[in-house]
Amino acid sequence: MEFQTEALHAGYEKDAQGTMAVPIYMTTAYEFRDVEHAANLFALKELGNIYTRLNNPTTDVFEKRFATLEGGEAAIATASGMSAIFYAIANAAEAGDNIVCASQLYGGSLTLSSHTLKRFGIEARFFDVHRPEEIEALIDEKTKVIFFESLTNPSIDVADIAAISAIANKHNILSVVDNTVATPVLCRPFAHGVDIVVHSASKYTTGQGLAIGGILVERKGLVDKLKGNDRYAHFNEPDASYHGLVYTDVPLPPFTLRTRLSLLRDLGAVVSPFNSWLFIQGMETLALRMKEHSANALAIAEYLEEHPKVSKVNYPGLPSNANYDNAQLYFDEGRASGLLSFELNSADEATKVVDATKLYSLVVNIGDSKSIITHPASTTHQQLSTEELDACGVPAGLIRISAGLESAADLIEDLRQALEA
Ligand SMILES: *Cc1c(COP(=O)(O)O)cnc(C)c1O
Repeated sequence: MEFQTEALHAGYEKDAQGTMAVPIYMTTAYEFRDVEHAANLFALKELGNIYTRLNNPTTDVFEKRFATLEGGEAAIATASGMSAIFYAIANAAEAGDNIVCASQLYGGSLTLSSHTLKRFGIEARFFDVHRPEEIEALIDEKTKVIFFESLTNPSIDVADIAAISAIANKHNILSVVDNTVATPVLCRPFAHGVDIVVHSASKYTTGQGLAIGGILVERKGLVDKLKGNDRYAHFNEPDASYHGLVYTDVPLPPFTLRTRLSLLRDLGAVVSPFNSWLFIQGMETLALRMKEHSANALAIAEYLEEHPKVSKVNYPGLPSNANYDNAQLYFDEGRASGLLSFELNSADEATKVVDATKLYSLVVNIGDSKSIITHPASTTHQQLSTEELDACGVPAGLIRISAGLESAADLIEDLRQALEA
């Protein structure tokens, strides 16, 4: 079925009440029929609900629907995008291992990989997302993940997804892509050879800035890459914490299975069923919204490109942009999402313009139906050193816009007055 139909129906079987809207199952736990039933569920002889840290019927619909939209096999919802990213990495790597990451990453992903994971004994090595040829020199037998964003936030680059995943596949390494900004509406990384897709559901999925959540999706057939692969011994050897389960020996998608049984069980960054329900509402209109976000961002970018005070506009939908060809190649109908940025000559000028806008809210978020403006150097990227700022493409005079769903004419008029104020 087509995307928009799946967005409304996938993963939900109506209950005996015929409930049209997916019910919110607010419950901590579930009653077992008897001791044997309980034992079967714990032994995975039967699949079913145990405890909401592990599974929940509302979250189950969100996971199934999202997996369908991404064209994946299975998904795990998490408490936030950051926990989905952490789980994707922690499920593959342990102390002594390394991961190879694009330098152009979300601020939280950068601090996670270069600082927090370091304390877990996992080393991050960085490549320029525009230079996949740098990756091979960084790989060794301890490399467990190649991690990048399809459409980077906030530097707004478009990765050559097929080139990066081809390198990962050549070395039998897991590729993980953060598809938050592109969304499965514009880009389907599995079609280009990626293994794991992660998202912050807090952005376009919820769509109206309503809730924090994340999701991790596993591609179809990933078991073939993991089975017998020496890099991932923990998927091929008995898990002592789960009575000797070998993840690649059971007929369930192994990456999400281990995320659920081991990481959700022990680390517990689980999504609230209420938030899953909000994400389900968001998915119904995701495709419709992404068209409008993209059209508004393009109109703003075209306006800014002609403005004398603006030295550079970063929007992959503009033919002048270095990412234009990749956007045409990887994004549906070349639409380029709602994120754009532009450069003024100094941090000072940028601050003035941000403060002079009236319609845009100064918020560190993206993907809301209401337009957002940010000055990354003083907010989201404040913790990064000057070298780290330059490396991830965030100069001091950069302003980022997340184009909302207001009328494009009003959004442009507000920028015009702010730039002239
Ligand atoms: C926001 C964001 C994240 C983090 O997601 P949270 O839900 O805020 O934890 C990760 N990656 C990208 C690209 C993001 O925009």
